[in-house]
Amino acid sequence: MVSKLKCPGCGALFSSNDSSLSQTYHASSACEGQYHELSAWLWSKDAESFPKQYAVDAYGAQHVGPTTKDIRVAFSLIGLYLAVEKGYTGKMVQEAHQKLAQKKIVWPHFGAPATPYTVTVVDVLKRTSPQDHLLALNAWSADVWRNWGAEKQAWTRALCQRYLF
Ligand SMILES: [Zn+2]
Repeated sequence: MVSKLKCPGCGALFSSNDSSLSQTYHASSACEGQYHELSAWLWSKDAESFPKQYAVDAYGAQHVGPTTKDIRVAFSLIGLYLAVEKGYTGKMVQEAHQKLAQKKIVWPHFGAPATPYTVTVVDVLKRTSPQDHLLALNAWSADVWRNWGAEKQAWTRALCQRYLF
């Protein structure tokens, strides 16, 4: 029997003999490997709208642990909000992040939500066809955004209202 390893961030199961953890994310190395594979694939897609940004924010918000920087969590939530509720392209999200990085904002500390995720990088990577990848990225973003709950969503909307719109 092959033992399954659960990613501490997104909860995805991996058949792997590698039980090491990512140095960058609250994730298993196996899960981070999938993310890098997806990122590399998306990198070449549609430079104009930059869909890779959706993956950056969905993965970032899904892999939050004790050592994750507060700004990374906040930027991930902001990116998810702009993508899911405002229909921003990845490129537009990137520009919003750049704008916010110039402001002197003290980012709050948010712990990861307790509810399990239903969509992970594994599901998105399965659908890396030119037709399907945007649908898969949108479903992933929406799932992560929903999982963070009403309180964090309200904080994100208010922050964007204050600094971006
Ligand atoms: Zn993971």
